[in-house]
Amino acid sequence: MNIAHLLLGSSQEFRDLPALAHGARLHLSYRDLWRKVAVMSTHLRVRFSLQRGDRVAFAMTNCVESIEVMYAIWHAGLCAVPMNAKLHAKEFAFILENSGAKLCFVTPDLAGTIAEAAREAPDLKEIVDTTTRAYSFMAVGDPSPIADCDPTDLAWLFYTSGTTGRPKGAMLTHRNLLAMTLNYYADVDRPVPGGSIVHAAPISHGSGLWNFPMMARGVVQVFPESGHYDVPETVELMNRWPDCSIFLAPTMVKRLVEHGSVSELKPGALRLITYGGAPMYVSDLKRAMDTLGNVLTQLYGQGESPMTITHLSREFHADRNHPRWESRLASAGLADTCMEVRVVDEDGRQLPTGEVGEIICKGDPVMAGYWNNPDATARSLRDGWLWTGDVGAFDEEGFLTLKDRSKDMIISGGSNIYPREIEDVLNLHPGVAECSVVGRPHPEWGEDVVAFVVTRPGASVAPADLDRLCLDNIARFKRPKDYKFVEALPKNNYGKILKTELRSKL
Ligand code: AMP
Repeated sequence: MNIAHLLLGSSQEFRDLPALAHGARLHLSYRDLWRKVAVMSTHLRVRFSLQRGDRVAFAMTNCVESIEVMYAIWHAGLCAVPMNAKLHAKEFAFILENSGAKLCFVTPDLAGTIAEAAREAPDLKEIVDTTTRAYSFMAVGDPSPIADCDPTDLAWLFYTSGTTGRPKGAMLTHRNLLAMTLNYYADVDRPVPGGSIVHAAPISHGSGLWNFPMMARGVVQVFPESGHYDVPETVELMNRWPDCSIFLAPTMVKRLVEHGSVSELKPGALRLITYGGAPMYVSDLKRAMDTLGNVLTQLYGQGESPMTITHLSREFHADRNHPRWESRLASAGLADTCMEVRVVDEDGRQLPTGEVGEIICKGDPVMAGYWNNPDATARSLRDGWLWTGDVGAFDEEGFLTLKDRSKDMIISGGSNIYPREIEDVLNLHPGVAECSVVGRPHPEWGEDVVAFVVTRPGASVAPADLDRLCLDNIARFKRPKDYKFVEALPKNNYGKILKTELRSKL
């Protein structure tokens, strides 16, 4: 099964429905998108002489062409290597070299950077800028039939965001992506033909992965003209295109909720926000629900098991009268339909309910391994189980609460302290805009707790107030021993806070 069948099917079922839009403007219908992709795939095979399994990278600011390129790649039986548009030339060079990509598509803003990176990628033969004739020429010619693929063929090399070191290429197969798509319908939503998704988050990550469930259901994929997340523009597009879904990282949800233009959102315009990829603090979540209504679904996944490990559905978000409503909101929900999820000790033994251990999971979305990295693969995939590196615990109803990445856990005086719990409490202070808690080496205790805090403009936050909040809400030993007030927190290109950098500041 070739994942490009999702487009082929929709080009028959939803022929004249819009498939791609550039801002408020229609770009291509389903039938026209399919034809363009099938012709582009001829060029990939003939003009660029690419063979089944070859890697084709792209570095593009979010735009309609990213979908054309991806489906042309799959249609031709090749493997896509989507790269985050905000990477540094050295990071692009690493991915291009590591993946052995032979061709790379770029938007004009990235052409120079990729040309520079290409010097270190000997396999890369050609760079195609999507605004040049070389690209428009790819739409001219005869369509090829869709390539035959095995379900285990590579479809997407997903480079991890590398918060701790070199990124690794998670090998996602056609089967992995199909399983993720079907799981979307089972646990997240079943979009309605003629609806829309706005791609405000990077297409190389969660938003791009959500293209599949949308593509198969006749939904129009809308790319903001700015190419990035601009709140007023996003709100306008949500009002323009019907029945809108969107994927946002938690910080992006927060920006939406705090921006004045959210009041212009028309009732019923927004069908669904899926959020995930980083912790969503309960105080932020409640505020989002109060502002936006019951439109939020959480997902917990990782590049190695794309978008699919657990989910917290709209129904659980809305169940305010439930005695454990708050603890459910603080959780990442229940195991996904096509996943087995366990919490285990270091030896892989399943732990009883309530005990904290590493989260492992098994199911069809789990990657085939890391590209050219057998050691990392052997550490992460054991007996078919993916060791996520995340730490958490199940409650008696099966809700999984994530504590932290195992490496972010603080051990102080022999007790495990999970930063997220403390961050949740500090976020309750109205003057705190953002915070992050890390461990600092301590001669006696091993580590002690330090909080980095960004305050809201004009707010004054005293350490004593934060201490009081902690004493009122969590055990005394978890209280930060030091507060560092900073202008901003270091983040990677997906908006994830770089705790390694914070630790090194200490
Ligand atoms: P990535 O592979 O870049 O998508 O990063 C995946 C990691 O993000 C996971 O292993 C978790 O540590 C974190 N993550 C993903 N979803 C959630 C969530 N819903 N809540 C908290 N952390 C999350």
